[in-house]
Amino acid sequence: MGSEPRNMRLDGIYKQRQEGYFMQRVKLPAGVLSAEQAYKVAAVAERFGRGTVHLTTRGSMEVHWLVEGDLPRVKQELAKVGLTSRGACGGAVRGVTCSSQGAAAFPGLESLARRLQRHFTGNPRFEGLPKKFKIGIEADTAGGRHLIQDVGLVLSGSDAGVSTYDVWIAGGLGREPRAGFLLAAGVREERLLPVIEAVVAVYARLAPPPKRLKFLARELGEDEVRRLIEAEPVYGEQLPPAHGFADNVTPEVAGGGRLVAPVFAGQLTSARLRDLAAFADEYAGGVLQVTADQDIAYPLAAGVDAGRAARELAAIAGTSPGGAAPVTFRICPGSHECSMGLAETRNVAAELLGVMGPAARGEAWALSGCPNSCSQPQLAPLGIVVAKLVAMEDGSRSPRFDLYRRGGGGLGEKVREQLTLGELTEFVKSV
Ligand code: SF4
Repeated sequence: MGSEPRNMRLDGIYKQRQEGYFMQRVKLPAGVLSAEQAYKVAAVAERFGRGTVHLTTRGSMEVHWLVEGDLPRVKQELAKVGLTSRGACGGAVRGVTCSSQGAAAFPGLESLARRLQRHFTGNPRFEGLPKKFKIGIEADTAGGRHLIQDVGLVLSGSDAGVSTYDVWIAGGLGREPRAGFLLAAGVREERLLPVIEAVVAVYARLAPPPKRLKFLARELGEDEVRRLIEAEPVYGEQLPPAHGFADNVTPEVAGGGRLVAPVFAGQLTSARLRDLAAFADEYAGGVLQVTADQDIAYPLAAGVDAGRAARELAAIAGTSPGGAAPVTFRICPGSHECSMGLAETRNVAAELLGVMGPAARGEAWALSGCPNSCSQPQLAPLGIVVAKLVAMEDGSRSPRFDLYRRGGGGLGEKVREQLTLGELTEFVKSV
């Protein structure tokens, strides 16, 4: 994305496709934010941007259409409610994600995400890395998201009351997708910081910019990468367990269930985000969760009238309770705003939604505007990547689409390539 100075990226800022405009990404540990924080993001987008907020598949929020002179003020305003963007872009440890927000164990995962984010954010030892470094935490392996992280933690059980995690490393999508491999099983929670630090240290020392950790796994082999990590002095460090109150804001005890407000392509207006924050205050203890499908979810507080809450949320989200379920469709910004985008993803998705039959509407889809695969198309049952632009006789350029299908527990496989939009539309009709 663009070629702005690295320090801007470390502050979570990318140049937009449109000259003179910037995007500010905001890290949300495990995708969770408070209603107060949501009000602030809405206000920042309205005051400094064009009143739109984008939800990412990694549970972050992005504010587009900012001008350079306003960027320091944007950072200050976000800091007033405890939001940080440090390391949200560039060669740093990115926001810690979690797609298991509906799991019973989620409050503990959120607490761990917050601890990891505090530890790795803004620490010069973990900045200036060859490229991005992504950490994800999951309650299980069902969604396959542990396979696409530099470090993917999967809850495996508990040992004398302490949670244990399987540690997967060296996964990633992008132009060369590679599934991560299991570094260590059943690691006690207090061992995670030294283990992850050792992984970062090996990556920082041996990977040439702009390669990800998966490059080392391919070049050196998984066994050698494991040996190097285990040989790091920090790997064996013993830290005391983190006693004290947990700082997750998602309640420990499930109350009235969970509701999801679908958000097309993760695109919200400031006004809609304020409404969603007000809903959180009324029904969900002031907690919002940005999901991996770019929607907003709520853990309902105990004792709320779930039926009334569902009707009110449907009114805010513009859906009808009991009506046709919205299609799950992850969509990156594409050439609407992203400098790497090869097609206007939201328009392509709207066209495809228009021809979907019932079976296609029951599938989960993902569309990425370039091979960087930010919407994680290799983790959707049906994933679409805009692979390239082809020059036409009339001087225009026409997108070509690759199609991925995911059936088992690994990454999706490319099953069709170089489809025109017409061919892609015909395929979607046939599902
Ligand atoms: S996948 Fe989408 S958001 Fe990611 S770099 Fe490509 S166009 Fe931009």
